[in-house]
Amino acid sequence: MYLKQREGWIEVITGPMYAGKTEELIRRVKRLEYAEQNVIVFKPTIDDRYAADEVVSHNNTRTRSINIMKAAEIMTYVEKDTDVVAIDEVQFLDEEAVAICEYLADHGLRVIVSGLDRDFRGEPFSFMPRLLSLAEEVTKLSAICVCCHTPATRTQRIVNGKPANYSDPIILVGAKDTYEARCRHCHEVPGRPAVYDALGGNHD
Ligand code: ADP
Ligand code: ZN
Repeated sequence: MYLKQREGWIEVITGPMYAGKTEELIRRVKRLEYAEQNVIVFKPTIDDRYAADEVVSHNNTRTRSINIMKAAEIMTYVEKDTDVVAIDEVQFLDEEAVAICEYLADHGLRVIVSGLDRDFRGEPFSFMPRLLSLAEEVTKLSAICVCCHTPATRTQRIVNGKPANYSDPIILVGAKDTYEARCRHCHEVPGRPAVYDALGGNHD
């Protein structure tokens, strides 16, 4: 059955690193460009892993993008004829990104964002829970666990060859940080409080 849909909504692509979030965002953007939609792709400047003015996936698909430092900059690029705004690595922007996505969707734009749902500790990533609950559509992807080869939902952070500690700061000056995909059971976070306690479990 075909149900007519009014223009303007938010779709979120989420999951751990290597899940294919960027690949999926690029796939959607390319299809919309074939459909002659006016698409603008943004990414936070912090993510300069591969290229300055491109969004690039781990398997090397790519599309042009605009680097921004703050979410508010998005509004300076959106024009009357913009149909679609896409944002990669949205979790690295400031929280105003949430209000901007809502505003754009309310004004008839299709908003496609991709971002991590959890940080390296396995906990919800900053404002992502808000964005996930406000979205019309959520695609939660998994990677493959490098330890046991089942679907991976977590990002394992390794610092100087060892699993990162729960209390390690996000940026460790001089340390060699690497990341891999792991499942719930293989994910290691030394020093993490018992999950039951952390989530407010009651022992009585
Ligand atoms: P994300 O944006 O979620 O980090 P990308 O779209 O950049 O993911 O990259 C996805 C690609 O990463 C996959 O298509 C695959 O080629 C590659 N890859 C590398 N390691 C893994 C892994 N452990 N599980 C799944 N895919 C992986
Ligand atoms: Zn595993």
